[in-house]
Amino acid sequence: MHQTTIRNTVRCTGIGLHSGKQVEMVLRPAPEDTGILFALRSGSGTSFLSPKPRLVVDTGLATSLGNGHDHIATVEHLLAAVRGLGIDNIRIEVQGRELPIMDGSAASFVYLLNQAGLRRQTKARKVLAITKPIVFSRDGKFVKATPHDGFEVNYTIQFAHPLIGRQNLNLEVTPDIFATDLAKARTFGFLREVEYLHANGLALGGNLDNAVVLDEFGVLNTDGLRYPDEFVRHKLLDFVGDMAVMGLPLQGRFEVFASGHALNNSFLRYLEDNAAEYLEERTLELPTIAPAAAPAKVAPKQQPVPAGLRQPVMA
Ligand SMILES: [Zn+2]
Repeated sequence: MHQTTIRNTVRCTGIGLHSGKQVEMVLRPAPEDTGILFALRSGSGTSFLSPKPRLVVDTGLATSLGNGHDHIATVEHLLAAVRGLGIDNIRIEVQGRELPIMDGSAASFVYLLNQAGLRRQTKARKVLAITKPIVFSRDGKFVKATPHDGFEVNYTIQFAHPLIGRQNLNLEVTPDIFATDLAKARTFGFLREVEYLHANGLALGGNLDNAVVLDEFGVLNTDGLRYPDEFVRHKLLDFVGDMAVMGLPLQGRFEVFASGHALNNSFLRYLEDNAAEYLEERTLELPTIAPAAAPAKVAPKQQPVPAGLRQPVMA
């Protein structure tokens, strides 16, 4: 399998979850073996950051990455879209300290990346494969991983809420499955938490346009849910994004119970610390057909513009 980047540069603007202000993001193609690279622009220049488990500095309101000098918040849904669509190499330029929250899902990012188009590169894809079973648990929550030739997730959540209860979803996450079954699932929160955050000047950009908000009985959003089990789908989407900070794509089968950004990150740090025991870097085989005969392009897919993405700009 070949490494992949995007074909064209694309940009979008949106509201920052933390600040409530407009932020701009530019996605550019990147050379082979770049991985996911953030270019954080500020008045004093540009600093670069490649996601790693230990660079996750905050998982409270959203996932933030920091390198000691700069930080970037609300990265999880873009990382999920990049990894979910099988993009190995991309440069993400940001002016400001957070990515736009868009509609609280990964749909706008999938739309934008498909508009950019994907480009197959020459070198083979590298992955980090789970080589033996591992169980990582804390406070009754767990992530179990076993060797598997792909990225399969069996996710279960349990909330004492009449609309959520226990939800389970098992998916082999491929680009098509990510786009159809996960990308549109929005983040969710409870009204009492939203009120607390706003009262304390936090999540100023958070509202019913970018989250499913629940009171004691049901959903406050007038349009209701996008999937009957949107909650577990969003948690699985988050898991895809959280695993992307490993750098290379992970290969394995994951059984996850009641986890979240913090436990997902602790799991990755443990994996990294014990890499010799549980992980092996592999280079995926290239197809045997002659490269000249293989189609060089993947045409961008035509999709309706999702809510929350008003003006994607081809640059
Ligand atoms: Zn999320």
